[in-house]
Amino acid sequence: MFRAIRVERSGETVSARIAELRDEELGPGDVTVDVEYSGVNYKDGLALMGRPGVIRDYPLIPGIDLTGTVAHSDDPGYRVGDRVVLNGWGIGETHHGGLAERARVDGSWLVPIPETFSTLQAAAIGTAGFTAMLAVLALEHAGALPDEPDAGARDVLVTGAAGGVGSIATALLSRLGHRVVASTGRSEEAGYLRSLGAEEVIDRSELSRPAKPLQSQRWHAAVDSVGGDTLASVLSQLRYGGAAASCGLAQSARLDTTVMPFILRGVTLAGVNSVQAPRPLRLRAWGRLAALLDPGLLETVTTVVPLAEAVGVAERILAGRVRGRTVVDVRA
Ligand code: NDP
Repeated sequence: MFRAIRVERSGETVSARIAELRDEELGPGDVTVDVEYSGVNYKDGLALMGRPGVIRDYPLIPGIDLTGTVAHSDDPGYRVGDRVVLNGWGIGETHHGGLAERARVDGSWLVPIPETFSTLQAAAIGTAGFTAMLAVLALEHAGALPDEPDAGARDVLVTGAAGGVGSIATALLSRLGHRVVASTGRSEEAGYLRSLGAEEVIDRSELSRPAKPLQSQRWHAAVDSVGGDTLASVLSQLRYGGAAASCGLAQSARLDTTVMPFILRGVTLAGVNSVQAPRPLRLRAWGRLAALLDPGLLETVTTVVPLAEAVGVAERILAGRVRGRTVVDVRA
């Protein structure tokens, strides 16, 4: 038997509660993981609060990421005791997820945790931090953040900066030597954002309203977890040849813009999808996270809660009131 959060639907009512489950109730997979930590990402907030669009089949264990150790493996790539991390691939959406003491998954979905990180630190990075790293890789790929020692610092904007993706993106971009401007709706988090490396903190209302198709050129690059009019404003403020990585939709899934920034300034809009990122990209991203992120800094970003508190965090994350990352210790 193991403990898990289970999201159930009865008629129109969706509820999440802790249940005792048997191993036989886990889904298919060739590796069983003793889960230590999961997290509450924005998407987990939606799932735990019964919002549509995340969980496809009820009942389901939510949790789009997990870290832990291998308990059983029929995959030759993994042995009992290996420390592993899993982000996406549909866990917590179509396959039982990480908010449980045990998970059964496909071995090809797992990534070995880099030596530099504990299972707690890898969970603190979680899907949000992994996504932030994918965004940075996308901006590098677009040529907006040249990966050369003498390229010089770039002006880089991070929106939704006090959230999970935004916090880790701020830390990563600052570590890469760029001049990070953090956009937030929470002025009280300015000190926190500066401690992650932001050089300037701006109010998100500067960006969140409909804007002219072309504004003054401010940013070489941007990581956006907000979407909507904010992303449209960001595109209209990118410098010639700049790029924005679109990660999320905390403001809106809509994007009302024009082709002007693309055809007059040659900017790039790069999409980021962490769920189906292919394995070589995952290994590369986790390798870069290990090289760039100070494990100590992760403590600043992270709050650890027991399994029973995950639903309360879900409510707060949807209200935009969670700072940084929330890790769930599923054994507590
Ligand atoms: P968080 O809730 O931790 O962060 C989102 C942040 O967005 C908030 O902290 C807030 O930042 C800002 N925000 C919230 N509401 C609004 C609003 N109405 N207008 C403007 N800004 C707002 O979520 P995550 O960091 O976990 O995820 C961020 C987004 O990225 C989500 O939309 C999520 O679905 C998406 N995502 C996408 C992934 C992918 O693979 N593409 C993977 C992971 C996440 P502040 O208070 O600083 O203003």
